[in-house]
Amino acid sequence: MKLTRKYFLFWAITTLPFISFAQLPCGTEDPISSKRFSQEVLENEWKDLNSGSRQMPRIFMIAVHIIRSTTGTLGISEGDVLDAIEIMNTLYEPANIQFEICSPINYIDDNTYLETTTIEGQNLVSNYNLPNFINIYFIPKVLNPSGEALCGNASLPNNFTINRRIFVANSCAKNGSTFSHEMCHFFGLLHTHSTTGGLEYVERINCQSRGDGFCDTPADPELESNNVLNCQYIGDDYDPVGVKYMPDPSNLMSYAPKSCRTKFTPQQYSHMNLISKDDNNYFYEACDLADLSLATSMPDVINLEDFSTFTIPFIVTADNVQNRQIVNFEVSIIYSPSLDENIIINFTLYIDKGSSTFPIPIHINALNIQNFVNASKVIIKIDTKNEIQETNENNNALCFTIKHNYAKNKTSLIFPNPTKDYITFYLTNDKISQFQASIVDITGKLVMQAVIDKQDRNFIEKIDVSELKQGMYFLIVELDSKTQEVQKFVKL
Ligand SMILES: [Zn+2]
Repeated sequence: MKLTRKYFLFWAITTLPFISFAQLPCGTEDPISSKRFSQEVLENEWKDLNSGSRQMPRIFMIAVHIIRSTTGTLGISEGDVLDAIEIMNTLYEPANIQFEICSPINYIDDNTYLETTTIEGQNLVSNYNLPNFINIYFIPKVLNPSGEALCGNASLPNNFTINRRIFVANSCAKNGSTFSHEMCHFFGLLHTHSTTGGLEYVERINCQSRGDGFCDTPADPELESNNVLNCQYIGDDYDPVGVKYMPDPSNLMSYAPKSCRTKFTPQQYSHMNLISKDDNNYFYEACDLADLSLATSMPDVINLEDFSTFTIPFIVTADNVQNRQIVNFEVSIIYSPSLDENIIINFTLYIDKGSSTFPIPIHINALNIQNFVNASKVIIKIDTKNEIQETNENNNALCFTIKHNYAKNKTSLIFPNPTKDYITFYLTNDKISQFQASIVDITGKLVMQAVIDKQDRNFIEKIDVSELKQGMYFLIVELDSKTQEVQKFVKL
């Protein structure tokens, strides 16, 4: 009797736990439904991928977890992991996707996980998954719920991103195809023999809605060692309308022997690329390692004598930068007593690989900032959205306290003085009221008049005096016809 894998599987399930089984290719199961793109979308994506406008590869961040025994044995070597990633990166080039390890390799020395089933797998994920990484676990033995050894399995795209992971059995990690196969599941690809949506026929009539959803992968009755010889299909299976299957054992998403699986099709590549920009885009470019810091030679108290421009010199240092990247940069002021924050400067820095320093003097024009008179702090921040993976994120901000000393012991001030076009009038006292402000010339003639609505302890206003003739003037502030302040200024 010919033992097919399916028959054997049935027998193994019914007689567990006494049977141990030869390794199955993959434990990633068909979903009830899967995301599909139309043939037109897939074809256009492939054209884009191969056009001159092709962009830089999308780099995805990998976290590698290596399971070992409690005494540190039985783990896959770091070199084998790196080799597997290199092979995978070559295969993924046409999809414009690349992978990088961006955290130290995490060794989990615990006998509990040497044979990882569903339950241990869930514990691994909840204990060790790093957010925003593609978490890959290299495990001595990966078992399905029936106790059968698998080469690996992977989470398809879903909403529970923190729980997604790839399990790879050490013995299959080096075969050149399992790792890439599992990563494909992570990017939404199904097996070529998938029956999601129904059985796919050999004739290309339902290839988009049934099976793996691709019309450039032939219908596949499920390959196995018994129906593939020398990487050729030798089976004798027919689809429901009587057409003989002509599957492709070279496709990486088939169950053909690992050594036969060497390629993806254009539609498979297009699908991965589309998912990389969609469901999986939160892993994209997270692979940014750098140590950033801010430093300044300024004391942390800024004594302001007037409302003109002041400058804060400081230096951004970037060390151990793995990839050229864009870093967000922000300067904000904090108001007192409300503690409201107002971002006054916002820009991005390009930081190159390696180490670099950027001396950046920040010029702040107080007169252009609304309500600056109530500003109590200036805060300079880099990487405000925590997009960079850093060893120390506590040195990415500088804080300066602002001391407003405009009038010193006076209650009002005019500056600049002399002036050509504008004066700024500053008034500080406890009175909250409407004041009358008048500008008179040296002869006492009224030339300008306005009502000041002072709603706060501090009042500041910029006044256009460009129309006034050259000469000396007085600004007189009155409350209930009583003079409160007199300030002299010269118009040039
Ligand atoms: Zn699979």
